[in-house]
Amino acid sequence: MAAHDAIVVGAGIAGAATAYELRRAGLARVLLLERGAPAGVGTGRSAAIVRQHYSTKVMARIAKAAVERFARLADELGRDVGYRPVGYLFIPPPGTESAAQANVAMQRELGTDTVWLGANALGRFDWLNSEGLPGAAYEAKGGYADPVATTEAYVAAFVRDGGDVRLKTPARRLLRAGDRITGVETDDGEQSAGIVVNAAGPFAGLLAATAGLDLPMRAVREQDTVWQGRPGRPLPVPSISDGADAIYVRPMGEGRFIVGRGFPKPYQDVDPYNFKETADDAFVADIQGRLATRFPGLADARLMHAYAALYDVTPDWYPFIGPRAGLAGYADFSGGSGHGFKTALAIAAELARWLTSGEAAEDFRQLSHDRVPAGRLIQQSYGGNRG
Ligand SMILES: Cc1cc2nc3c(=O)[nH]c(=O)nc-3n(C[C@H](O)[C@H](O)[C@H](O)COP(=O)(O)OP(=O)(O)OC[C@H]3O[C@@H](n4cnc5c(N)ncnc54)[C@H](O)[C@@H]3O)c2cc1C
Repeated sequence: MAAHDAIVVGAGIAGAATAYELRRAGLARVLLLERGAPAGVGTGRSAAIVRQHYSTKVMARIAKAAVERFARLADELGRDVGYRPVGYLFIPPPGTESAAQANVAMQRELGTDTVWLGANALGRFDWLNSEGLPGAAYEAKGGYADPVATTEAYVAAFVRDGGDVRLKTPARRLLRAGDRITGVETDDGEQSAGIVVNAAGPFAGLLAATAGLDLPMRAVREQDTVWQGRPGRPLPVPSISDGADAIYVRPMGEGRFIVGRGFPKPYQDVDPYNFKETADDAFVADIQGRLATRFPGLADARLMHAYAALYDVTPDWYPFIGPRAGLAGYADFSGGSGHGFKTALAIAAELARWLTSGEAAEDFRQLSHDRVPAGRLIQQSYGGNRG
């Protein structure tokens, strides 16, 4: 018998939530392995915008479930996870206004609390220069959460529920016997498991390769800036994806904002083990210019901080989730592609159900890596991590 019912590799939000959900779904012996510390890679530097606006039914459904979960997560896990439903505004990229309105209609059919605000309605936001904007989608329950607090809360709840977590413990390779993954090797030796979940973020492809598994994924450098607005200025209230100016703006409270560039933009592929973690001066200047035009109250904001982190990007910017045809004992949960923080809550719950009962919704099964060899990549309206 395997020593563990499940081993989850990686304690970013994906692995932490999955380990917790597997315990909750009834697996007795779940081991969570983390090379460094929880949320130490992409999750810890995430802008962590929480939104439900997606252009595919499957991701809109998942995002809705995730927002519902955020609303009760602090009670469930016993800690504040920093979820702040300050609202979310989606300004569609040029030429996608009709698609955005159709997507709002699709989301409303799913029961999502979202509305389309026409050009005139945007005038109510005194912090927004709405000139030239055709309208925007608005969600009252969107906003943001604290990605580190959320991940740590999942890990703590997992341990409280009897889970075993080992930090500073890399999985060196997957163990494979024919068409079955049988465990992982750590520096302490071989660890056998009924199932291994690869939630290693930008390193997931490298881990998969140790067992000869294909996992097409780019590690892309993503820069962010943090600005302090001045008192007395009209400052944005909700989290915002501004497709007109290709930036995102995420409040942090107390007049501070995380601001990054959104799709489309140049993407820089890097070595996940070795990349420049500080931001480029030209990037900061570019952000400042875009910010000042659309959000005049931030024109004289003070730069507090700037940094770079990693996106793990799949060929269609949708994650790889679940088992693969013809391979036992293994599941993917990676490829958040720059929008995988908030959805991880709902994905982890559905993944745990799939792995423990064999049951999964048909649309959810389509997110398996099997879509790559089958040539069935996901099609979305906006491109990139806008989903
Ligand atoms: C700058 C930035 C802004 C973002 N903004 C948003 C946003 O606004 N909204 C949103 O929803 N998403 C956003 N995202 C995306 C989101 O944060 C990520 O999709 C998500 O956090 C990825 O979580 P993860 O657990 O899959 O990966 P990671 O957080 O990368 O975690 C993977 C973990 O695996 C560990 N690991 C790797 N290899 C091994 C091994 N061999 N053995 C043991 N452990 C290993 C790593 O140390 C790491 O802790 C953003 C991401 C970035 C970088």
